[in-house]
Amino acid sequence: MTSNHSPFTIYHSLPIVIVGHVDHGKSTLIGRLLYDTGSLPPEKIEEIRRASEATGREMEFSFAMDHLEEERQRGITIDISQTFFSTKKRQYVIIDAPGHKEFLKNMITGTSQAEAALLLLDAVEGVREQTKRHCFILGMLGIKQIVVLINKMDMINYSRERFDALSTEITELFSQLITRPISHPAAVPVPQFPNSPISQSPNLLSYIIPISARYGSNVATRDDRLKWFDGPTVLEALDSFETPEIEGKPLRFPVQDVYPINGKKVIVGRIEAGQINRGEGLRILPEGETASVVSIEKFQEEGLTIARTGECIGLCLDKPAVRGNILVSDTMISPLVTQSIRANIFWMSDKPYHKGEAITFKCATQEVEGKIGNIYRRFDPATIKIVEKDAQEVGPAEIAEVEILLEKPVVVDSFNEIPEMGRFVLEKGGHPVAGGIIP
Ligand code: GDP
Repeated sequence: MTSNHSPFTIYHSLPIVIVGHVDHGKSTLIGRLLYDTGSLPPEKIEEIRRASEATGREMEFSFAMDHLEEERQRGITIDISQTFFSTKKRQYVIIDAPGHKEFLKNMITGTSQAEAALLLLDAVEGVREQTKRHCFILGMLGIKQIVVLINKMDMINYSRERFDALSTEITELFSQLITRPISHPAAVPVPQFPNSPISQSPNLLSYIIPISARYGSNVATRDDRLKWFDGPTVLEALDSFETPEIEGKPLRFPVQDVYPINGKKVIVGRIEAGQINRGEGLRILPEGETASVVSIEKFQEEGLTIARTGECIGLCLDKPAVRGNILVSDTMISPLVTQSIRANIFWMSDKPYHKGEAITFKCATQEVEGKIGNIYRRFDPATIKIVEKDAQEVGPAEIAEVEILLEKPVVVDSFNEIPEMGRFVLEKGGHPVAGGIIP
């Protein structure tokens, strides 16, 4: 849509999310990023210019977002959730823009996973409640590459003193709120919430940068009025981040179905991480039986020897498998196979949940009955306050740290390692009531 790259260039795109209190400048920054990276077509720039002039302003970059949002609502833009821009280094996808209002819910329920986050803060208004809430949720999701942007520096006369004061406040906030998610394998779950030791949270907050989204200072280019700042621009900061490396991860192949084709049993699914080689030894989880890959089947492709992350394929094994099995590599790091999961959930249903009520746990192609056995802590994400410890229920729009007890073992990973295997949905009576992630 808004990308200007050659179709022949291979990009590893980095999904980012842009968050912040309303009016702190998200739309303006997105418009600015698209404009400064040459991702907006000339006719769109002209439109923005005309719309801005009509309201007596210079370039109002937030119009770019308004325009995309309008297109989205009228159903013009085909792929609504993908807004791209590119630097010389790589392509970026801004998650849930335009119309990024639902992003928190989307992120918590796991429909979108950002690898890096830009958190905007209005230099005049300072830290607001929503700023704190966003810090909290970014931390809970385990996003490790965060840049705080102190925006509207033009409105405070590019004051270094004010920037320093806000930086101190933000650093303090992060050290209180954010704990680093445990690394894979998630054998011993630890609390991922506030009040955990600060020592667990190195390097989450990567940079704090003074910017003016409206005038483009420190976005793609520097500004003399901010020459006292010797850190990176927004684009430099983003380019310093790492891209996800799903391909090199251990194999995760959730079995979707098994079809009899020409006398063979073909096991169908999508490779969520890693790769599969013909002849390779696999394990069929949760039982753990070993098997080897006899053939890799793909429509109109003969004699395949390898299949990679993201591919939907059929497999013939020398052992039977069923829907809900997870095939993993015999030699690389194994996932957790467990009947008890410690996780963070976001309660979406209007009705509260009472401890012990039956729920269905769904992760990848797995579906197992169970219940929430422990509600360690309930949080109100608006205030980031613990509502209650060792609670008996979870209410609408609350976040809770819980233990889910299942009737049969399931195969899961840390959300940060392999997103698809670390997020889940809870259902009650056939309706989704909560989304969750395994830290
Ligand atoms: P959002 O609600 O976070 O998307 O905020 P917007 O991008 O819509 O910005 C809110 C208002 O702040 C708009 O009127 C913008 O023009 C203005 N604004 C955004 N960035 C800057 C900036 O760097 N300097 C100044 N002076 N105004 C800005």
